[in-house]
Amino acid sequence: DVFYRELPKVELHAHLNGSVSVTTIEKLISRKPHLNIEHGMTAIGKGQRRTLDECSQVFKVIHQLVDTEEDILMVATDVIREFAADGVKYLELRSTPREEKGTGLTKKSYVETVIKAIKQCKSEGLDIDVRFLVAIDRRNGPEVAMETVKLAEEFMLSSDGLVLGLDLSGDPMVGHGKDLLPALQRAKNCGLKLSLHLSEVPSQLEESDLLLNLRPDRIGHGTFLHPEVGGSQGLVDKVVTNNIPLELCLTSNVKGQTVPCYAKHHFKYWYQMGHPCVICTDDKGVFSTDLSQEYQLAASTFGLSREDLWKLSEQAIDCIFAPDTVKQHLKQKWVAIKPQVF
Ligand code: IMP
Repeated sequence: DVFYRELPKVELHAHLNGSVSVTTIEKLISRKPHLNIEHGMTAIGKGQRRTLDECSQVFKVIHQLVDTEEDILMVATDVIREFAADGVKYLELRSTPREEKGTGLTKKSYVETVIKAIKQCKSEGLDIDVRFLVAIDRRNGPEVAMETVKLAEEFMLSSDGLVLGLDLSGDPMVGHGKDLLPALQRAKNCGLKLSLHLSEVPSQLEESDLLLNLRPDRIGHGTFLHPEVGGSQGLVDKVVTNNIPLELCLTSNVKGQTVPCYAKHHFKYWYQMGHPCVICTDDKGVFSTDLSQEYQLAASTFGLSREDLWKLSEQAIDCIFAPDTVKQHLKQKWVAIKPQVF
């Protein structure tokens, strides 16, 4: 349906290496035939589901394929072009800086290369504003987290506003948020915006409470925050009182088996409450989706009208990490596009 593609959209939760399309994976495989990697190892197709643990294995395979500056440049430019072609007008990409001894890739050159890709796409005249969030993989522990915050801080000051904040992600079963509090607090104090994966799996009430006390600027998933699924009213109250937007990824959660089916996705709980919810893809490559498809799924599952969808995409502008001037600019863009879409 062209409506969904033409609907101007904001993507706020996209992991770079999870967003790599089949076409780009093919190019990577042909660069590294010796790895003997096939498509089935990098994407979860229609109707398939994998545990979160199996999803982590998929990322390991992709990381093997993306291990040079050249790879990162190609992956990032391809991903940005694909989001632009899907009608995304503003994109916050996130990625975990990696060091690869074998290829000379450093965490710093990793971030520099993503920034280079963003600038390259801008110079091509693509109609998409792209920003970057530096990701902390929780499995790597507190020292690496602190190092990552310092790196993000440097880039926040030197990237002309392209690096805006920090993401906390990675296998939710590994490590504990409390060990990462000093790094996250430092990030907050120096002006980095925080988007934290929170309650992605059950039984993380204590961790979620600690992380919410930091007052993150946005929440990734938040699947098990509300009492109906074993969360608590106290957690919900903290989210509501501080008006913290949720980044919600339908296909990812169903394929990753943290949500039993689309109809039971927590989008319903938060959306009905009128809480700010932003529809996102998470990993469009791994989960074989795109943002248009996610909006379409939300519409068909929860009976949203075109006007509801328009509001949903427009309200996402208020949740971006870029400054008010950018928000104003995007809002004007939405107004200009509206007559073409309806
Ligand atoms: P990268 O940071 O660009 O390498 O993207 C892949 C990484 O994103 C994975 O290794 C995880 O750390 C993180 N990631 C992707 N999807 C998820 C998710 O659903 N939950 C938690 N972490 C995720």
